[in-house]
Formats: sequence, C-alpha cells, structure tokens
Amino acid sequence: MDHLSTLRILSEAADWDAVAPSPRIESCGQTLIGESAVNDEPGVATPAQTPQVSEDAAYGICRVKRLGGGSVPILKVLLSNVCSYNCAYCVNRRSANVRRASFQPEELARTVADFDARGVIHGAFISSGVLGSPDDTMERLIWTAQTLRERYVYKGYLHLKVIPGASPELVRLAMRYATRVSVNIELPSEESLLRIAPDKSPDAILTPMTTIADQLCELAETNPQRTSSGSFSSMSAGQTTQLIVGASPESDAVILGLAQHLYTRFNVRRVYYSAFRPEGAAPSLPHLAAPPYRREFRLYQADMLFRWYGFSPQELFASGEFLDEDLDPKTSWALRNIEFFPVELMTADFGQLLRVPGIGPASAQKILALRKAGRLNSSSLKKLRIRLKYALWFITLHGRSQATEIQGPWETPAHCTLDHPEILREFLKEKKPVPPPINPELDFLS
Ligand code: SF4
Repeated sequence: MDHLSTLRILSEAADWDAVAPSPRIESCGQTLIGESAVNDEPGVATPAQTPQVSEDAAYGICRVKRLGGGSVPILKVLLSNVCSYNCAYCVNRRSANVRRASFQPEELARTVADFDARGVIHGAFISSGVLGSPDDTMERLIWTAQTLRERYVYKGYLHLKVIPGASPELVRLAMRYATRVSVNIELPSEESLLRIAPDKSPDAILTPMTTIADQLCELAETNPQRTSSGSFSSMSAGQTTQLIVGASPESDAVILGLAQHLYTRFNVRRVYYSAFRPEGAAPSLPHLAAPPYRREFRLYQADMLFRWYGFSPQELFASGEFLDEDLDPKTSWALRNIEFFPVELMTADFGQLLRVPGIGPASAQKILALRKAGRLNSSSLKKLRIRLKYALWFITLHGRSQATEIQGPWETPAHCTLDHPEILREFLKEKKPVPPPINPELDFLS
C-alpha cells in the first residue's frame, strides 16, 4: 500500500477519537465554547474558524483553537488501526471489517516532521490500535515520538495516546516526549466496560492515569513554569480522557460525577464527551437512530458549569438523573431556583453574577469593573457579551427589571416573567436542533 493511502486510512480511523478535534467535525462549522472563551456563556455558538480545505481534511489535518485566541492546524493520525482488542463501540475493533494499515514508527515520525517543515501543521495527535500487547504498542508510539523529537528536532505540540495496560515505566517515558497524553476511559462504569470492552479492565485504565497524575505533580514541583512560548515543553498540556455517551445505560449524573472525580483525583485537564456513533459499532450495542449529540452538548455545558462557575454536578439535576435537553443546564437550574433571582447588578458579587443565565466569567468581571467605574447602565450592559435573551429576566439594575428596559429582537409572550416560570421556560427553550456533531475543540495551549 502506498504512503498516501496509508495516511488516508489511518487519519480517517483516528477521527473516532474525540480527545482531538476532527476535520469532519470542523467542516460542520460548529463550535462549543471552552477554555479559550471563558468570557462566553455555555450555549453560545461562536463562529467557527475557517474550516480547512477538504484536501487537508483528507489527510487528517484539522484546525483547533488555541488558548488565548486563533487556531492552528494539527495532524490527527493512528500509528496502526490493526487492533487485537474488540471494543464493541469502536470501528477499529478486531472483528470489524475495515481496511487495515500501519506505519512504521520512523515513517510516521518522518510524515509528521515533513508536514511540520512545510508549515502545514503546528501539532500532531498520535494514537494506535493495540498491536500485540499494550507495552508493544506503547513502545512503538514512544519510538515515533522520540524519533520526531530527537532526529527531526520537532518542537511542536504532540498529543500521544497511552494504551490501557501500558506499564508505568513506558507511560513515564511517553511523557518525556509528549505535550499531552490521554488514556480513554470510554465506558462510565465497570460493568459496562467489562461488557462492551472485555479486553480492557478498570485497573488497566486507571493505573496509567494514576502514573500520569503522579508524574504531573512531580513535574509541577520540580519545574512549575513548563510552558514556554514558541515551543511545547514536556507535558505542558496535561492529561485528558474521553467518555462515550449513549453506548451504555449510565445517566448524565453518573457521567458528570465520574468527570468531577477525574478532575479532582487524576488532575485531568479536560474530559471529552463523545456521542456514541452507532454506524461503526457492533450490532450488540443500542440501535440509536442518530448519535445523541444534544446530550453530548448538554454534558459539555454542565462540565463547564462545575469547572468554572462554582456549580456542583448534583445541583444541575432536578429530580431525575438526566440533564434537561431543552434548556442549557444553567437556565434549567435558574428556573428551578427562582428564589435566587432577580440578582441586583449593583450589589451582586462575582459568584452571584455567574449564576445568572447568559452571564459568563468575563462578562461578570466587566460588570464589576463598569460598576466600580460608575458606568454600569442599560446601554453599557447591551455592549457586553451577555446572552441578553436569557439574562434579562433574572437581573435588576438599580432595582429595575431589565426585561422592560432593554428591548431585544425577539417577540415576548404575555406573562413572560419570573412569576410564571413555565411561560419563561417555554420562551427560552431551545427551538433549533443542535447541529451535529459538537466540536470537542481546545486541545491546545499557547
Ligand atoms: S483498543 Fe478498543 S477502542 Fe482502541 S482501537 Fe482497539 S478496539 Fe478500538
């Protein structure tokens, strides 16, 4: 098989991993706000960066946003899509009837270095199916990374996949060359893992994650300033993981509870939620008509709320175990807790402002700054990046409801006030479908 065919097969096969963005996803022009847009509010779809041309997409090159602005192209590719494991959700599983290909480590290192030398990419995400044993595969991934760093003096971003079951020494070695590593948990409970991915075990996943977390602590203690401008230093982007949503019966509450545990216990930089895509999966898995993209979207929004807005995952659920799919989780929470509102902008503290639907951390900071400068009024409010359609009902300024002070381009139904939360809910309900799939984005540090 020629080099380009191998590259095509292995970049297409890598598309199934959400921990790095996908050219297919980027080309949909959707984006979910995230770490580079902390001034935004969950639910705001910001304009996507110009998608890469299809030619680049064919080689697995996609654009990702950088923390601090802008976007950069990265190559997303597998070392091999041959796999001795048989995870039922995975298109590369042993029993799947797909074209197989493999790179030699030097060959893949040369490919990445060549793209980099031509200025086509600014980073790479490299994963692999399990070729023989986890350690055999890990050694080949490390060999690739080492060749890239040492022979080709590659200084760009490098995200390496850690294979479940890889030994701690190899995990630590991989961290010498990678900017970021990830071990995918995939199934949110032990029972589902054993049923759907029988070759894996919780221990095989959690042991490398623990090794990574411990090593990250050590690195932070010995060298707290590891991120340098212009090049990516070892492990400056930490570890991430992915959870599949909808392939198994776990609720949103279970998934978010696990995510919170991973953030606190394993020092995970980012948990990615990936809607189960039935088209590539084994017939034994649920027969969904379409991947649950809206559910995935709500999980990303909820995740932001407990990482940046001071919510606990438990607060985001009413009586059930699933998020409200019709409303973003903060608006849903606000409508269940109307005694908290209205929030008076002249006296509210930062934490109270963050509880208001439509107000994010950056807008909250700006409100406080404008208030301090004596310039907070209805017209200055309109110039902030606030989702006014959501915020107006929940705030007052100098005791006056802003729902009557500020006219939006929408038609307001009668009795649409906090006194009638059911009418307000109907008005604020998401009418448009969430266009699939959501961009997992933000794999990058600046
Ligand atoms: S280990 Fe499982 S998820 Fe990974 S490539 Fe193999 S079958 Fe797919």
